[in-house]
Amino acid sequence: MALRTPLIIGNWKMHKTVAEAVAYVTAFLPQVAQMTDVEIGIAPVFTALSSVVASVQGSVLRVLAQDVAAEGPTGAFTGEVAAEMLREVGCHGVIIGHSERRRYYGETDTIVAAKVRRAFDAQLLPVACVGETLDEREAGTALPVVERQLRAIAGTLTPDEAPRIVIAYEPVWAIGTGRAATPELAQVMHRHLRATWEECFGAPAAAALRLLYGGSVTADNIAAFTSLPDVDGALVGGASLAPDGFARLVQRSQAASA
Ligand code: PEP
Repeated sequence: MALRTPLIIGNWKMHKTVAEAVAYVTAFLPQVAQMTDVEIGIAPVFTALSSVVASVQGSVLRVLAQDVAAEGPTGAFTGEVAAEMLREVGCHGVIIGHSERRRYYGETDTIVAAKVRRAFDAQLLPVACVGETLDEREAGTALPVVERQLRAIAGTLTPDEAPRIVIAYEPVWAIGTGRAATPELAQVMHRHLRATWEECFGAPAAAALRLLYGGSVTADNIAAFTSLPDVDGALVGGASLAPDGFARLVQRSQAASA
């Protein structure tokens, strides 16, 4: 029994109507129904969450939201959706602090930490994203930048929550560019993140922490990442949009870590 169950999540971003999302699930589910050694999640837009949750009932597939309010459980926050509301419609978890949220909507480390706190308070699994920009990598500051982002998240957690959160390392320059990180680079960063977690919470929490790699992952390169000792799965954007392709990617990820 693996210490860390592999996890592959498809982030659909602002794609798919309700009808398209349900059609996707109908095509995808039979292809992954027998896969019990890997956890699989999809993150549709808010408007499709309820319908997708209904479509995956009784299956292995988890449904996550792509964002959550930093405030709540209720209040005068126009346009926001509280963690408890996501839980109410059957979400298993939520992606937090994606680089597109940090870059286009001004999400800071403080906001990301507040959202992680809200997710745990509502019994949602937080999948918190960290990652450096190209400028930061070229300046040689990737490790300290990502460590700073991670420590901000660590600061909001109890020792009991620390082993349960999922962290996705997504170098910004690799997202949607077709230029994935090399496996060596991903392993160095993941090892550093796990070592930082050990400093914050101790060895058992660090050994249990699931670290996903994200950034131009495809069915062709997934195995090179999931075979790494400190990579426990992937957060996948573009390559999760077609059900057959995503099913193939998930299958290959499992073959690699078996
Ligand atoms: C993402 O959006 O989290 C992502 C990793 O996108 P892509 O796989 O398309 O690079």
